[in-house]
Amino acid sequence: MSEYDSNNVFAKILRGEIPCDKVYEDEYVLAFNDIAPQAPIHILVIPKGSYMSIDDFGTGASPEEVKAFFAAISKIAHEKGVAKTGFRCIANTENDGGQEVPHFHMHILGGAYVGPMVSK
Ligand code: AMP
Repeated sequence: MSEYDSNNVFAKILRGEIPCDKVYEDEYVLAFNDIAPQAPIHILVIPKGSYMSIDDFGTGASPEEVKAFFAAISKIAHEKGVAKTGFRCIANTENDGGQEVPHFHMHILGGAYVGPMVSK
């Protein structure tokens, strides 16, 4: 990915052009249920800024954006009751990471054991 594609599905959700099943929102972050859940709880957390990947976010986001992003994950985990039982965060990145949507997102998976870390 060389530059941000503003036609990606999460950009459209952020602009309100397509709906989402919202779980959390603040000034910097939006979170919503994944449309094809892979676990009883499967939430996507995205920054409102136009970042393509975790690498792009880590390089370009402000300290406020980074703090809000990780604080949101923690708030959601507590609100959904998985902070104690456990959950997994996944940020698929670029081709080898299997990233399909080119707007940085963190998957939160939980509500049951989510299996081994990597399966081939
Ligand atoms: P990734 O492979 O990490 O890019 O994951 C993209 C995720 O976005 C997949 O888990 C999809 O099920 C999910 N997804 C795609 N379109 C939507 C949508 N409109 N609303 C919610 N989740 C979506």
